[in-house]
Amino acid sequence: MNTTSYWLEEPRDELPRRRFDGRAEVAVIGGGVTGCSCALTLAERGVRVRLFEAREIAGGASGRNGGFALRGATVPYDEARRSLGEHGARLVMELTERALDRMEALAGDAFRRVGSLRLAWDEAELAALRREHDALRADGFAVEWVGELRPPLDGLYLGAILHPHDGALYPARWVRRLAAHAAAAGAEIREGEAAAVDEVDADAIVVAGDGFTAALLPELSPLVTPTRGQVLATEPLSERLYERPHYARGGYDYWHQLPDGRLVLGGMRDASPEIEQTSVEQTTELIQGRLDTLVEQLLGRRPAVARRWAGIWGTTPDLVPLVGPVPGRDGVWVAGGYSGHGNALGLACGDLVARALLGEEPAELAIFDPRRLDSSFD
Ligand SMILES: Cc1cc2nc3c(=O)[nH]c(=O)nc-3n(C[C@H](O)[C@H](O)[C@H](O)COP(=O)(O)OP(=O)(O)OC[C@H]3O[C@@H](n4cnc5c(N)ncnc54)[C@H](O)[C@@H]3O)c2cc1C
Repeated sequence: MNTTSYWLEEPRDELPRRRFDGRAEVAVIGGGVTGCSCALTLAERGVRVRLFEAREIAGGASGRNGGFALRGATVPYDEARRSLGEHGARLVMELTERALDRMEALAGDAFRRVGSLRLAWDEAELAALRREHDALRADGFAVEWVGELRPPLDGLYLGAILHPHDGALYPARWVRRLAAHAAAAGAEIREGEAAAVDEVDADAIVVAGDGFTAALLPELSPLVTPTRGQVLATEPLSERLYERPHYARGGYDYWHQLPDGRLVLGGMRDASPEIEQTSVEQTTELIQGRLDTLVEQLLGRRPAVARRWAGIWGTTPDLVPLVGPVPGRDGVWVAGGYSGHGNALGLACGDLVARALLGEEPAELAIFDPRRLDSSFD
């Protein structure tokens, strides 16, 4: 079955071709948002960087996701203040807000800054939204309380918060563009070339695999679990109801409409959580059936579906990314484990690793250090 995403079917321009002879100073494994971001920062600073992508640029989660460009991480801000501390939560929020600004500067028509709406499914989620809203407000971050929802949302949800500076992406278009920026800056990008960490010849290696981290670095398999997400895209609709990204039930359900009216909708992973812990990029009848039901609730009918697909992301035990040197492997770095929230974080974390390799000491790396999750690394 063809489960290529709607996004990856867009025609693409050829990447500027850069080849250099001999050894790379830095090899990047993985051509998604993380790898391309890392390669761009390094190439801009004159580093000889070679990126290996086993399939095509954005062929993994970066070209298969829901297209939500959200600030923050998977854990809502008020909870992050407790788990990461007030300073840590603020650093992550500011890091991702800067990443969204950078995305806007680089993405062209692949990014629309339309805000995002987090909806409450029940009273417990409404109370959780209130806590997140109040925490964001208290710390000076923009957020709006939406007490009254428009039909049909008013019959399905109890309220929402608006994150006004979030946005919507054409994810593959965006990451192909990011790769083009990296190539134009001097990075060598090799598509269709799988690389193995033990075989690549470079001074430093950056593993930018997110959901493929465990396959590339087996010792990290207890820390990054491959997790499947499933999505569908309808044919264009005449009504315009969901211009900005909407998500509900703690992020289990998400949808938005594209400028041509198409509804892109994903989630429902909680219908079979164990089965969805997999690295197999295939759709299932169970989840797709649930997605069809949600489409019907949101539109009052079932429009024709143009495409259904699946993708894999990496989930960490604390839902915080894993970014830093890989313990026990000299010169090998990892950036991934965004736990389903990697569009802005991936852009930010690829850049963080690049800056660390250039000798900087970004403060956020202390939060994302892989050693926090396994004391045997010390
Ligand atoms: C269905 C779905 C919906 C999502 N929705 C959202 C969303 O709306 N918002 C959001 O912020 N995040 C979302 N995410 C998460 C987000 O897409 C990812 O976290 C992010 O794209 C990860 O980017 P990456 O570059 O780290 O990894 P990837 O994009 O997965 O890139 C890794 C690449 O490594 C390549 N690779 C693997 N092995 C090798 C090898 N041996 N050699 C060379 N290359 C190799 C793969 O082919 C792949 O292209 C979603 C993910 C999925 C799957």
